[in-house]
Amino acid sequence: RASRDSNETSPARKDDSSVHGLSETIVGVLGGGQLGRMLCQAASQLAIKVMVLDPLENCPASALSYHHMVVACGVLTVEIEHVDVATMEKLEQQGVDCQPKASTIRIIQDKYLQKVHFSRHGIPLPEFMEVNDLESAWRAGKQFGYPLMVKSKRLAYDGRGNAVAKSEEELSSAITALGGFDRGLYVEKWAPFVKELAVIVVRGRDKSILCYPVVETIHKENICHIVKAPAAVPWKISELATDVAHKAVSSLEGAGIFAVELFWTNNGQILLNEVAPRPHNSGHHTIESCYTSQFEQHMRAVVGLPLGDPSMKTPAAIMYNLLGEAEGERGFYLAHQLIGKALSIPGATVHWYDKPEMRQQRKMGHITIVGSSMGLVESHLNSLLKEDSSDCQ
Ligand code: ATP
Ligand code: MG
Ligand code: MG
Repeated sequence: RASRDSNETSPARKDDSSVHGLSETIVGVLGGGQLGRMLCQAASQLAIKVMVLDPLENCPASALSYHHMVVACGVLTVEIEHVDVATMEKLEQQGVDCQPKASTIRIIQDKYLQKVHFSRHGIPLPEFMEVNDLESAWRAGKQFGYPLMVKSKRLAYDGRGNAVAKSEEELSSAITALGGFDRGLYVEKWAPFVKELAVIVVRGRDKSILCYPVVETIHKENICHIVKAPAAVPWKISELATDVAHKAVSSLEGAGIFAVELFWTNNGQILLNEVAPRPHNSGHHTIESCYTSQFEQHMRAVVGLPLGDPSMKTPAAIMYNLLGEAEGERGFYLAHQLIGKALSIPGATVHWYDKPEMRQQRKMGHITIVGSSMGLVESHLNSLLKEDSSDCQ
């Protein structure tokens, strides 16, 4: 069932069966991974009803959702950008209230289109170029130099659509590793970053925008590994990062959380890497460290409740991703060992996503440690990781 009376300040259709919650709108969430799960957790606190729409029966969010596989929601949102956007556009035309808008998902799910969009809006980015054959890739290499980042336009996550060519000789193997030109590729000039930063931004239904404090993200093999909040950067850099993030999100349509990934380069620039139109790994710390978590904020934004305070209520937070270290039972054993230790670390909170299968490098959970200084939370994390490696080997 579609809603037809959407406007900018309040969400569309009220559901008849709903009781006296803060919002009677049922929120449909496309995707039922850990982000959907944490959205459900936040929604439950405000008694907002969520329907998770995911093809997987036992996805991480399914245990916490109000209902399953039914499209009867007042507002439709996403926890993943890799959705069927043509269907989303059709639903929108039929009057379904999508937040953010399908147009935003269309731009973002194709990373090349996303770069074209942001460069048209004057957002600073690493130089980029579409490549259709080896010759155009060579030309790009000549222009941008090496190392050169080759990226697939679509279905990219956790670095799975990226390959680095260190020299012209490595270009064709990088392209093959990504599945060849048929997959749709583009290249980016290498960004010589000092740190990677991220800004979680929320946009309300009334188009108002609030930015969370800038964080530093540390990636290992292209996968987010550690997030430090706030980022230890000069004030000017944090201001510039926030400005770029604000401007990037202003160029997109619809309400909700957006995550803006940035490079702080060695010549003092802030360049945009990519934007996610949804809650993001770089914002998980907000659950424990901010007055309003990114998940609650997303729910508030899409249903049209007042936005919450994005500022930090603890001086420092560090988030550590629990990535699969081994396949199957061994992987579960190692993760549970670490969690066992984390449970007695002061200021630590454990999140376990309950994914049915353990795989190498898969995001299985995360640990956030909050405390009175970055030095303190870092030392807690170091002791957790050090003990783990000595115990488990
Ligand atoms: P995500 O899981 O965040 O969606 P993704 O698969 O879309 O990741 P990107 O964000 O494009 O991949 O890149 C992953 C990581 O690779 C970045 O966080 C950064 O560490 C590195 N990287 C990407 N582009 C560049 C670049 N142009 N120069 C240098 N490093 C880069
Ligand atoms: Mg991405
Ligand atoms: Mg990324």
